[in-house]
Amino acid sequence: MFNLPRGTRDFTPEEMEKRRYVEHHMASTIKSFGYREIQTPTFETLELFTAKSGDAIIDELYSFKDKGGRDLALRPELTAPVMRFYVEKLQMEPKPLKLFYFGNCFRYDRPQKGRYREFQQMGCELIGTSTTEALAELIALAYYAIKNTGLKNIDIRIGNLDFLNQQFKTCLSEYYPAGANEVFRLIDKEDFNELHNQFDNYGIPEEKQKKFLGFLGSNNINDLKKYIQVKDLKRYEEIISILKNDYGISKIKIEMKIARGLDYYKGLVFEIDAPILGAEKQLCGGGEYDLVEQFGGTDVSTSGFALGFDRTILALETENYTFPSYDIEVYIIPVNETTIRKSIEIAKNLRKEGILTDMDLLRRGIGKSLKYANSKNAKKVIIIGPEELEKNSVVVKDMKSGEQEIIKISNLINKLKNN
Ligand code: AMP
Repeated sequence: MFNLPRGTRDFTPEEMEKRRYVEHHMASTIKSFGYREIQTPTFETLELFTAKSGDAIIDELYSFKDKGGRDLALRPELTAPVMRFYVEKLQMEPKPLKLFYFGNCFRYDRPQKGRYREFQQMGCELIGTSTTEALAELIALAYYAIKNTGLKNIDIRIGNLDFLNQQFKTCLSEYYPAGANEVFRLIDKEDFNELHNQFDNYGIPEEKQKKFLGFLGSNNINDLKKYIQVKDLKRYEEIISILKNDYGISKIKIEMKIARGLDYYKGLVFEIDAPILGAEKQLCGGGEYDLVEQFGGTDVSTSGFALGFDRTILALETENYTFPSYDIEVYIIPVNETTIRKSIEIAKNLRKEGILTDMDLLRRGIGKSLKYANSKNAKKVIIIGPEELEKNSVVVKDMKSGEQEIIKISNLINKLKNN
């Protein structure tokens, strides 16, 4: 007996059907916004991920040396790989460039519900524009990609790292010579007790603490005006206005506590939650970021988001969403060995018509086969016996009503499609 590695999962046929269904819906929403799919390798050079985040990130990675002594890592996310791809091969493409991906990611996280060591992300990257309508479209897309799967309750929170940095500078920077990382990490973890402790330990004057925490608590534009100049607020305000008024998305919250764990974000940032999931409620995170120049490319505006696919499915299940079933439509039972070949021919013809058809492959009796068909939720069973075949007919049984009819083979497809 072998066990699954910690934090990984197997998926049953029923789970895979749900996953493919949700994936299909998400991809079609994303494509409807003009995005095109790309794929990058599952592992990359370790350096790609340490370049901006530093060596500390190695603790969170599955990294290894290959037989040639190269340092590699299983990807923990896909933005850095996509930007590497862009810099290598796609810089000359007409702008804006809209790319999406769907892939498995690996993090040496502590596993719990909604947090795994292997999980899937679907994400979008928008390259070559930072207009207000571009950012609003990106956030609207993330919202609809989730909403169109059928999930009812989601919230969007929109923050701004420029504002957060500005406030850090005016209130705290002289007390934090190592920079904002320590504070932002606590904000990102929502560990406000520890933040208060730190402020006290570092001897930050009450007034400055109050101002910084007041700013963090701002949840509307008027509040923000107390801390941020009107001219700096204009772009942020316009993006929110487009989302609310033009896209008609009402569930938007202004939130300055979004610090984003990753080190390359700047400017506008956003997160989308499914509150029904409790602790691991964050489905999606994104915003504006800088990576291209650092990867050796020509500076260009970039923004994007990554959406946790596994949590979206969990949220749908928690909301008791009814997923479509992929039960077989027709189950064919050859009554004895003499009718097997004809049964195969009929199955082939039904499948050609797109009818989901299965057939008894165990040569069991009618009773057992009917039981099996029932357990598979087959809608109809076709019983193929020698006597009916002589008259070019078969018996069709409706599994719900139990009714049986003798149908001419030439009329079978017509009968099954119209019933
Ligand atoms: P991030 O790249 O950390 O911004 O994550 C983007 C999204 O991926 C999150 O909002 C989660 O929905 C999902 N996610 C991140 N880490 C995990 C994990 N360990 N297991 C499952 N989903 C995750």
